[in-house]
Amino acid sequence: MKRVGVIGAGAAGLCAARHLAARPEFFIFTVFEQTGDVGGTWCYQDNVGTDEFGLPVHSSMYKNMRTNLPKEIMGFPDFPFPENEGGSFIHHSKVLGYLQKYAKYFDLIKYVQFYSHILEVKPVTVDRSHLHWEVKVKNLRSRESTQHIFDAIMVCNGRYACPSFPDIKGLESFPGWVIHSHDYRSNVPYKGKRVVVLGAGPSGVDISVELAEVAEQVILSHNMNKKFLEKCPQNFSEEVGISKVTQSTVRFLNGREFETDVLILCTGYNYDVSFLHPDCKVFVQDQRMQPLYKHLIHIEFPTLAIFGVLKTILPFPIYHQQVLLFLRVLDGSVILPSESEMKEDEKADFDLRMQMGLPSRYAHKMTRDLQWNYDDVISKIGKFSPIPKVVRDLYNHINDVRQKNPIDYKDHCYKIVNNSTFLKLED
Ligand code: FAD
Repeated sequence: MKRVGVIGAGAAGLCAARHLAARPEFFIFTVFEQTGDVGGTWCYQDNVGTDEFGLPVHSSMYKNMRTNLPKEIMGFPDFPFPENEGGSFIHHSKVLGYLQKYAKYFDLIKYVQFYSHILEVKPVTVDRSHLHWEVKVKNLRSRESTQHIFDAIMVCNGRYACPSFPDIKGLESFPGWVIHSHDYRSNVPYKGKRVVVLGAGPSGVDISVELAEVAEQVILSHNMNKKFLEKCPQNFSEEVGISKVTQSTVRFLNGREFETDVLILCTGYNYDVSFLHPDCKVFVQDQRMQPLYKHLIHIEFPTLAIFGVLKTILPFPIYHQQVLLFLRVLDGSVILPSESEMKEDEKADFDLRMQMGLPSRYAHKMTRDLQWNYDDVISKIGKFSPIPKVVRDLYNHINDVRQKNPIDYKDHCYKIVNNSTFLKLED
């Protein structure tokens, strides 16, 4: 019997629980969740900053946010989204509803200890061949701390809660508002303001478009070498990256300068695994987490797995695959390569990205082929089915359509027919 500790009850933690619970003869486990709900980042919060317990608000959802992937491919393979949920790109509250139903259907709530904040995870060597994990947990309501022992740890604490702030010259003396997209909730406070949005990932584009409905002026600043919005409102424009901020303006790299009231930084997130004791030997540098085999399993301590490290993926199905792989490692049905082979593999993966011309901070970023190659490899190692071709095809199709039309693509509706082909439905 293996004792497993799961940190977080978002999509990854619930998926871990669903598969651990299916093997009661092999696993005994607890999920520790610091909030009072399952669903993680999909639990929209009106408030920003800190919560009632003084912890940073976890969710990065904004009020009107709709998914950027169609629900037809977003769900776990063993629990599809209901078909009658409206269009394909659904409101975030429906994703939360889906995760709550998943937890209920697989009877997972009984395994979750809510209001349980992980303070520290530390490896302890029992004897030369056996290592276990000491976990210090704080009950946020009683304020008591307890210690737990596990044979394995699944870190599922999410990667969209710790904002990354860029170095911008002059920012410290800019008198206007500066917020990170993590703290953006709706366009209401920005009525009549002159706003610069930095970063054109899915959130940056989405947020700048909804701001344009009420703001006096919106400038979307990015270095993507293309225009995101061909048809745009009069008060909306795009500029290259920011060179500096002055007492009242933002200056861009092309020398153009605009009076600005608000700067919204849609500049991504940092990994935060600060509860892992230094003895865990997990290192994060320039957005690269090491030492991880297949972006998941600690190479030196293979009873520790960190989920949610990969970027630009189809999250729920990939979590499903990663959970299956890790549990098969734990139950002994998959034997990992030697430590030196896993290190080689990790290096080869990184080197490949460098050869592709990606910057080193993209160590865990998946391009289209990298994601499916990764899935092919882990499903082969784990001896389970890869993500179906039709799911991959629709994901690739959406990526293409989003590139061409980053706004209206959400108005389309898709259907998967006979598990083999997808249709774009006419409006
Ligand atoms: P989270 O959902 O963040 O869950 C982590 C959980 O761990 C939380 O409940 C947190 O409270 C808990 N936790 C953290 N630290 C501790 C601790 N120390 N102790 C105890 N508990 C802790 N994905 C899609 O598939 N489609 C989309 O359209 C999409 N849009 C997105 C839009 C936004 C704005 C964001 C931020 C993300 C979006 N995602 C989307 C990605 C989304 O993050 C993943 O789909 C997925 O929900 C992540 O799940 P997770 O379990 O890894 O993390």
